[in-house]
Amino acid sequence: LYVDHPLGAGQSVPLDRDQAHYLFGVMRLAQGTRVALFNGRDGEWQADVAEAGKRGGSLTCLEQSKPLQLPPDLWLIFAPIKKARTDFIVEKAAEMGAARIMPVVTDFTNSERIRQDRLQAHTVEAAEQCGGTYVPEVADLQKLSRLLDHWPEDRQLMFCDEAEVGNALELAADAHKDAPWAIVIGPEGGFSDGERKRLAAMAQSHVVSLGPRILRADTAAVAAMTLWQKTLGD
Ligand code: SAM
Repeated sequence: LYVDHPLGAGQSVPLDRDQAHYLFGVMRLAQGTRVALFNGRDGEWQADVAEAGKRGGSLTCLEQSKPLQLPPDLWLIFAPIKKARTDFIVEKAAEMGAARIMPVVTDFTNSERIRQDRLQAHTVEAAEQCGGTYVPEVADLQKLSRLLDHWPEDRQLMFCDEAEVGNALELAADAHKDAPWAIVIGPEGGFSDGERKRLAAMAQSHVVSLGPRILRADTAAVAAMTLWQKTLGD
């Protein structure tokens, strides 16, 4: 269970109405039952139900059962598409171990608004599903051009371009195995010519094909993370 509260030996963790409903109404846990907790910062902790009420309750932390496991330093940068597909991208990126998920506005972005809180909630569910101890941050929507203006010098960039034929990733893997990385996926209409030129010309850029077919952006995000993980990740 995810809680937004510090975890440590003897720590009492209050539960809100929704959490109490889930634990005591849906899961039917009683006082004294053991629950695994994480908050994205302190690893996983075993806790006992101390108070079980309809509108709230509390847990008492006993001992740490897993240390915090940080994912590799990988950003997933994508242009938001339709709501359900954006949800899918965020959920899968969190499951696959992106450290930071960054929606960007590009020249052909069709959706210029996101619900950051909703997307962040998907990352919490994904971490719960994976038994993870880390929750990736969903950044606020920003312009791709601005992000590239301030690009960190050492962060390698896997630019997924359907016009590419080869695959530069294996060559890059030897030289940049321990570097921070970012995957960049375009919107449904793809990147504009200007964006493609700029992305390809960056010193940190590795232009990558995801195969001979044009994939939808949500499929491309999963394919790109799989390829990155196989080539560079763990
Ligand atoms: N420009 C395209 C069009 O409208 O015909 C389609 C863009 S595609 C739907 C969305 C994004 O997925 C692209 O910008 C690219 O980043 C990525 N993508 C899709 N297929 C790919 C492939 N075969 N290789 C590399 N990237 C791909």
